[in-house]
Order: sequence, then C-alpha cells, then structure tokens
Amino acid sequence: MVVSAASSLVCRNCGAQVPLRPQHACFECFGPLEIGYDTAALARVTRADIEAGPANIWRYAPLLPVGQDPDSRVTLNPGLTPLVRADALAEAVGLRAPLWVKDDSANPTHSFKDRVVSTALTAARGFGFTRFACASTGNLANSVAAHAARAGVPSMVFIPHDLESGKVLTTAVYGGDVVAIEGSYDDVNRLCSELTETDEFEKTAFVNVNIRPFYAEGSKTLGYEVAEQLGWRIPAQVVIPMASGELLTKVDKAFAELVEIGLVPATSWRVFGAQSRGCNPIVTALHSGSDDIVPVKPTGIAKSLNIGDPAAGRYALESVRRSGGWMDDADDDEIREGIRLLAATSGIFAETAGGVTVAVLRKLVASGRLDPDAETVVFNTGDGLKTLDAVDGLVGPTYRIRPSLRAAREAGLVG
Ligand SMILES: *Cc1c(COP(=O)(O)O)cnc(C)c1O
Ligand SMILES: [Zn+2]
Repeated sequence: MVVSAASSLVCRNCGAQVPLRPQHACFECFGPLEIGYDTAALARVTRADIEAGPANIWRYAPLLPVGQDPDSRVTLNPGLTPLVRADALAEAVGLRAPLWVKDDSANPTHSFKDRVVSTALTAARGFGFTRFACASTGNLANSVAAHAARAGVPSMVFIPHDLESGKVLTTAVYGGDVVAIEGSYDDVNRLCSELTETDEFEKTAFVNVNIRPFYAEGSKTLGYEVAEQLGWRIPAQVVIPMASGELLTKVDKAFAELVEIGLVPATSWRVFGAQSRGCNPIVTALHSGSDDIVPVKPTGIAKSLNIGDPAAGRYALESVRRSGGWMDDADDDEIREGIRLLAATSGIFAETAGGVTVAVLRKLVASGRLDPDAETVVFNTGDGLKTLDAVDGLVGPTYRIRPSLRAAREAGLVG
C-alpha cells in the first residue's frame, strides 16, 4: 500500500510541528495548522503515477494526507472538472492571451466543496469520528450532507438561517440534520467551535473546524488539475474567489509543490483574489496596505462568500503580495452582470461566486492589474442552479406568442 507523504501538522504562524491528528490550532501560539510533507517522499511522485490514477481527485492521492488506500475514502469522487477555453469571454473583457474557465460546478454536488469534503471526511473516518458536520455558507453543507448519506454516516450541518432556498433544499434532501442559526456565518462558526468542546459532539467531525487542516488540503487538487490539464504547466495568472481565503492559498501551495517536486517546469505565476463588495475584508486590507483584516458584517447576494472574519485572510494576502497579484471586489449589480457575461460567452451558468470572479476579472483587466497578454485561468466554483434568485427577473422569455404562424409573423420572427 502507498503511504502518505504527509508527515506532520505545521503551524502557519510559528512553524511548530505536531503529529497528524484532529487538531486545528497550534498549542504554542493558537495559529492555524496545515499539513506538512516529507519533501523527499513527495519528490518520488511522477507524472506517470498520477496519470495512471482514477479520473477524479484521488489521482493526486500521493500528494494528499489521506486516501492512499481506495477503501479508506469517504467520497463522491469529485474532480477532473472541465478546463474550458473561453475566447469570447477573453475578447469581452479585453484579454489577448488565452483565457480558461476551470468549471468546478461540474462536481457531484455542483461546487468545489466536494474536494475539501472528500479529504476531510476520509480523515474523519480514519480518526474514528462517527458523525459528520460543518459550519457552512451553503455549498459545504450541501456536500457534507451528500457525502454522509453515501457513506451511511449521520450528519448535522449548521447554516445561517437566511441562505438561498436552493442551497437549503439541495442539502436537506439528503436526510441529515440541518440546523439553521439565527445569525451570520461567523456566528455559526463560533457556535460550532463551542460545540466541538462538548461531550455530545466529541465524536463529531466538523470538517472546517476541528479537522480543518485536512479539509483545506483538498483545495490543492484544483491547482494540480489546472496544471495537468494545461499539459503539466502553470498558467501565468489565476483569478480565484475568496470566502475564508483558503482556496486561494491552497491553489498557490499546489503550484509551489508541483514546481518543487519537478512535475512542472519552474515558472512564476500571479495570484488574484475576488470578493463581493458586501463582504470584502481581505480586499480592503490589501487596498489599504494593511496586514490586519478588520472583520465586517456581510451583506449582498454572494452568500457563499459571506465570511466576515476570514480564517485564511492573512495567508491569502501573503500569496497575492508575494506573487505580484492583486484583489478587487464587485457589487451586486456587477455580480449579476458577471453571471450573464460568463453564461452568454461560454455556456457556463455560475452561481453568485462565479459572477464575483468574472466581474473582478473584468475590473482587473480594465485597471491594468492583470496583464492582458498573459495566459489566465478563472475559477468558477459553483452552479447557478443553486442561486436562481440572483438572475430572477433579469432574464426570461424573449418573446411570448400564441401558437400560430400569424403570431410568429406579428412578433417579427418570420417575414
Ligand atoms: C466556499 C466557497 C468558496 C471559497 O472558499 P474559501 O476556501 O473559504 O475561500 C468559493 N466559491 C464557492 C462557490 C464556495 O462555496
Ligand atoms: Zn504556532
């Protein structure tokens, strides 16, 4: 059996190391922990090893902390989603170099969260947890409930009470417990942290709380896939939506690992982040040249990104600054326009988070922050069918006529 190259949990703040176990904060400094690897073991992984793997995220199991044994996986087998060449979108926003959309709505529960849930719950079952849970802005609850149903494990997901009905229904249908909290995501998250300390929740894995390092690591697979789908190379620029900021930091980490272990040619890339105007604490810190992320009370339609106190915000700032990228935000009208632009130019119907990313892509080109002559990948992380309200009233039938040729003529459809 292949063993994992993961060797420890490492504090992102002070570098302290502890063994791989269900722990998310450093005992020394309370900083967040992430997975550390034995680089020599990672460096033995070849492209051929990966290409011989299954057509889903588990082809990257040699680069992950869990899931090396196929029987150990708790998963709907997400991943290998389409990387779509988007020439018409490129032209519309003023890019001259190739533009690609990584369409992660094409996952089993229609968002990128299936990746992080697969790695988190595989770890959770290995650690002996008997119930699966999360604090969610919508898509995470959806994915945890579905994975738990497939695995035959009870689930209890926690969401803000005012989520889109599409997100609530597509979660509740799986039959686990759904707890709607009368508060924001940040309130939900705080409550979940408190629950993990109680006896009743001792055997409950909150994927993004008490086993967060294993959750976050699943996001790397999005970076690996983009590189592999481009023929084992890293794009010059990536534009990524941010909630906690974790996805952005982990795509950056994935690229760095691929270079370090020699699976792609050494190159540089620039990382760009996107938030909504209604919840932009990371963008605000960057624009004001500050290291301090001042929490906000989120508003606006991009609910999946509405984390007012982003756990990985500091590290997202670091990635963007170090790589020479930038961040920007988009208001609700720009988000709706972004959804329509992506749909009309590429045939991809994104949820509000995708609208944020496309709207910000356009701004970054217009402001000259993004190089129009450098190849770019934008990440669509969720499906528009879950946030229909966002475009309700904006789009609809172009004509409404009686079923007769005469009516068609009167409407100008025929001469
Ligand atoms: C959760 C989520 C994100 C961002 O996730 P973070 O890792 O918390 O930044 C982006 N898009 C969608 C659709 C999401 O559900
Ligand atoms: Zn520490």
